[in-house]
Amino acid sequence: MLNYSKKFRVEQGSKVKLDQIDANYKGEHEDKDSAQAEQEKHEQRLGELQYLMYAENKQSLLIILQALDAAGKDGTINHVLAAMNPQGCRVYGFKAPSAEELAHDYLWRIHQATPRKGYVTIFNRSHYEDVLVVRVHDLVPKEVWSKRYDEINNFEKELVDNSTHIIKFYLHIDKEEQLSRFKQRLDDPKRNWKISESDYTEREYWDQYQKAYEEAISKCSTNDAPWYIIPSNHKWFRNLAVSQILVDTLESFNMKFPAPTVNIEDIRKKYHAAKEEMKKDK
Ligand code: AMP
Ligand code: MG
Repeated sequence: MLNYSKKFRVEQGSKVKLDQIDANYKGEHEDKDSAQAEQEKHEQRLGELQYLMYAENKQSLLIILQALDAAGKDGTINHVLAAMNPQGCRVYGFKAPSAEELAHDYLWRIHQATPRKGYVTIFNRSHYEDVLVVRVHDLVPKEVWSKRYDEINNFEKELVDNSTHIIKFYLHIDKEEQLSRFKQRLDDPKRNWKISESDYTEREYWDQYQKAYEEAISKCSTNDAPWYIIPSNHKWFRNLAVSQILVDTLESFNMKFPAPTVNIEDIRKKYHAAKEEMKKDK
């Protein structure tokens, strides 16, 4: 089995060039069917580990998803959550900020959504938009956004120091694949609702977005909160890689079920007494 945690992790200090990364990559599997068994194994383990994290109630996991339109953020969330118990999971999608949010610093709305202990939270977009869309469209001056890489690293470090693990995925598709997914949205009546005017206007900024992503990922992939670049033209491969990396990450937390808060032998006696009572009643 290939180690995708190693392969796709952006090491701290390295410089990312997205056009050198093959979005069509599919590892050692030819297609979805041949990856199925491996995929199911990861999903099962993912469920077990999330249950353990919830039970332990000491640390949390924040999964940040970033990508261009139609790259599969929604599909990835659906896939990851299907393996977990919804009770211990939250998903937050970040849209253009409201007036109230704009009246605060850009991390204000983000910090409120970070996971409590025991929980997994997935961000569909995040504070990274504040160095992506905000930079590409000049929504704030360069002096403002250019300071944010350090601010983001400091913010994430503070979360990590307080028991929130952070893992960040960039879902990498190429321009051709995006257009073919836009076509599916046009052709499939069940997907028409996903179409937005901005799909095409944003596509015109493709190169600027690639540049903004390269800088964000290069500057903010840290040992504490690493970025992973996932080749995502093949949805099944994207799911396989993401789930394998999540399993590896959760395995590294060294979690343990908490000791029971009661004396198990005393409770066992109570159980047997109750059982005897039931027999008498019959
Ligand atoms: P979607 O994810 O398709 O629902 O779209 C959400 C939209 O909100 C995208 O166009 C994002 O670029 C935009 N958005 C998210 N965060 C910000 C932000 N901080 N500033 C401006 N626009 C944002
Ligand atoms: Mg969209």
